[in-house]
This record gives sequence, structure tokens and C-alpha cells, in this order.
Amino acid sequence: ACAISPKATVSDACASYATLERLNRNVKPALDELTQTTDFFSHYRVNLFHKKCPFWDDENGMCGNIACAVETLDNEEDIPPVWRAKELGKLEGPRAQHPGKAVQKQEPVRPLKGKLGEGVGESCVVEYDDECDDRDYCVPEDESATSKGDYVSLLRNPERFTGYAGDGARQVWDAIYRENCFQRSSFPHYAALGKDSSPQGPAAMDFKAVLDAAGRQHVLEQTREHNPLTPFVANTGLEVEDECLEKRVFYRVMSGMHASISAHLCWDFLNQTTGQWQPNLDCYKARLHQFPERISNLYFNYALLSRAIAKLGPYLTAEQGYTFCTGDPAQDAETREKVLAVTTKAASVPQIFDESLMFKNGEGPSLKEDFRNRFRNVSRLMDCVGCDKCRLWGKLQTAGYGTALKVLFEFDNNDHPEVPVLKRTELVALFNTYARLSSSLSAIQRFRAMVEEEENKG
Ligand code: FAD
Repeated sequence: ACAISPKATVSDACASYATLERLNRNVKPALDELTQTTDFFSHYRVNLFHKKCPFWDDENGMCGNIACAVETLDNEEDIPPVWRAKELGKLEGPRAQHPGKAVQKQEPVRPLKGKLGEGVGESCVVEYDDECDDRDYCVPEDESATSKGDYVSLLRNPERFTGYAGDGARQVWDAIYRENCFQRSSFPHYAALGKDSSPQGPAAMDFKAVLDAAGRQHVLEQTREHNPLTPFVANTGLEVEDECLEKRVFYRVMSGMHASISAHLCWDFLNQTTGQWQPNLDCYKARLHQFPERISNLYFNYALLSRAIAKLGPYLTAEQGYTFCTGDPAQDAETREKVLAVTTKAASVPQIFDESLMFKNGEGPSLKEDFRNRFRNVSRLMDCVGCDKCRLWGKLQTAGYGTALKVLFEFDNNDHPEVPVLKRTELVALFNTYARLSSSLSAIQRFRAMVEEEENKG
């Protein structure tokens, strides 16, 4: 009863929290080792500065709103400069420039059926500029850019409190959740949120929230006849009626990502009185503890990523020919060993997420395209995030979820029997997103213990 299918609600009442926490205790040390000690997985190439927000005006690279984001810490003028949001959100460490086409030795070769990345010789950090294919859930990094981005050290730029808040941050989250409003027929997704359309966008039309007599919120959305779901009641009292499975999964992925970001900023919070970085219990209570549904979505994402990583494992073995670091066999072997330590542990529990239930019915293919397009829109929205460090981690995590979805839905796919290429950026994003979720899970457990301790004292 506690198996995590896309239909299941992860909850305390069910053994699944405990199962995932046990799995996490097993996986986390290997995952930390992989993401913190290998060149391959601790550097990310990302185009952070050369893309404009495609959905609204973003003068100064911010969200375009004068009252926006980075400037909105209360009484910012009173705060010593190093603690100001702008400073906190800045990237640190040297940024290596992309080497450019000239340095790139050869075009990647599409792998043969059943083999991931065959012929894709990649160095530990440098990668080839490859076009994304139509099975990608990400936006190709070079879509509208003249520059191919920079290499950034993830270790030197941890995801933590930055002070980015206010209208700018809210505008991005609102736009992300608006993408959840699926329509029956596909429409030009990119244009839907474009500058010329209303801020609500046509997609918002099929979404209506009402309060019942008890003050509980019911979210009523257009029904898809093909996939009626029994009403889903979350612990928060948020009731979603007649919602299609895929739409719910999309929402949960976004909400789980949001919850994970909140967990990190509350755990690694700057106490502006003492100047210490430390957990902020009130922050956790206000953003997560009071909203079990958000925590449930975070665990849901952990299950989804665990499944994707477990599924990917067999494609990353030496026999399958995936090369992590061309030119350095020793480092290649070491990186692979660390990768396989993670994938093996992630696969040590019975299949934890059942993706085969999605995109099954008659409308499956168009629904999947809809889902993919919405996901791409979210990845474009990351260019509207007005804080460098938040944008870095926002981009990485959307790419990570996009890669997980690609692995879950595009591998072993009868319509496309050959395995899609995974680029270095996608692998790095996938494993680092898994690592983010892993540390969110442990932060939440520790926060929970702190709340209990406080309650016992009180
Ligand atoms: P927000 O977190 O902005 O939430 C806005 C609204 O969304 C809430 O009022 C609530 O109605 C709803 N909501 C909140 N959480 C959830 C959830 N899990 N599921 C569903 N709905 C929810 N700040 C940092 O300090 N460090 C970072 O690294 C960082 N990264 C960010 C990355 C992105 C992509 C974005 C958009 C913002 C980031 N921020 C970061 C800002 C941070 O997420 C908050 O927006 C900010 O702290 C203000 O918080 P808030 O309390 O106003 O609510």
C-alpha cells in the first residue's frame, strides 16, 4: 500500500517516509563523495549571464521590477555590505570560460541502440556543444545565446540563504505554478507566457479555487475524461478534484523543488545578529513544517530521482562504454566507481517509483509533449531569477529534474528504442539535484527533531 506510484501520496501515515529516509542514509555518503570530490561532478557549465528573461522585462539582469528581489531585504541599508542580498547571491570563485568550438575536438556520435553515450568522448569538465533533441525536457543551453556559458564550481557556491525575496522571487514562483495549468489541446507554450500575452496567460483559464464552508480550499480543474482520479486529499486540506495524473506529477515536482530550496535556505541561514551561518527553525516552521504537503512533495521527488538514478546505473558501466574523463583513464575509473556506488545503492530497494503509469492512455503522446513543453518553459523561467547563485541552482535543478524525466520516460521507450544521448551537463545536473534532495531530507529530519525537542520542553 505504501509503494510510491505517481498516484500515491507520500505521507507519515505510510511507511514510505521511513523507507526513503533509510535509503537516504545508505545513499548519502556515496552521493556526497561523488559530488564533492570529483572534478566531473563538482563543476557545472551554465549560461548564467547572457540570456534575457524571455517572459518579462529584466532590466539590469534582474526581474525588471524596481521593488524586486535582490534589493528587498528589510532595512537593507542597515545591513553591513557583505550581508546584503546582492552580495550573498553573488557567485564566488574563478569562473572558467567555455573553451569555444575551436577547442572541441569532435562532434559527439549518437549512440547505438541500447548504449548511452557511446562515442561521446568527454573530458572531466569540458563538454561538447550538442543540440538537445526533441526528447529533452530542458532548454538547450545555447538556444538564444551567443555565449556558451561558464564553468562554475558548485562547491564554492553552495545553495543557501541569499536574501533574494520579494516581488521578483514571487513572480518567478507564480509563473512556475501557472505552468501547471494544462490544457486539453496543445498550444504554443513558449508564447503563452510571452511578453505580448497577459500575465495570467491562457493556461490560467482552466484553474479555479474555491473555499468550502469549512474554509478548506478546493482546487477545481478541467477534467480529463480518460483518466479520472479519485479525489486526493492532502494533509493540508488542499483538495484537488478530477485532476489528471500527469498534471499532479508536474505540480509535485515543482512544489518539491521549491520545498527543497526552502529547506536549504532555512538550514544554511545567515543570522544577521551574530553573523553565523546556522539553521533557522522559525524559517523551517513557516515554510515547511506547517505544510506537510510540501514536505510530501519533496519526498516524492526523492523517490522519483532515486528511481531515475537506479534506472540509469546499468548504462554507465565500463562495459557500456560511457567515458567520464577522456585522456585520463585513472580519473575516469575513479569517477565511474563513485557513480556506480551511488546508482547501486539507489537500486538497493525495490522499484521505488512506478513511472509506467504515466502517459499510457490514448492521449499519452500529446500529453507527454505538453508536459515536456511546460517543463521547458520552467527552465526558461530560470533566466528571470534575479540572484546569480539562486539562478545557478535553479537552472541546475530544473535541468536535473528534466534529465530524470528523460531517463524515466524516454529510455526503454517502444516508440524510440534507441537510448537518448545524455550530455555531461545533464548527468552533473541529475546527480547534484539528487544530492540536493538528499541533504534536504536530512535537514528536514533534523528540523523535525528540533521541533519535537522544543515541544517537549514547552
Ligand atoms: P516563497 O518561497 O517565495 O513562496 C511564494 C509562495 O509560493 C508562498 O507564499 C506559497 O504560497 C507558495 N509556496 C511556497 N512554498 C511552496 C511549495 N513548496 N509548494 C507549493 N507552493 C509553495 N532564496 C535563497 O535564499 N537562496 C536560494 O538559493 C534561492 N533560490 C531560489 C531559486 C529560485 C528559482 C527562486 C524563484 C527563488 C529562490 N530563492 C532563494 C528565493 C526563495 O525561494 C523565496 O522566494 C524567498 O525566500 C521568499 O520566500 P517567501 O516566504 O516570500 O515565499
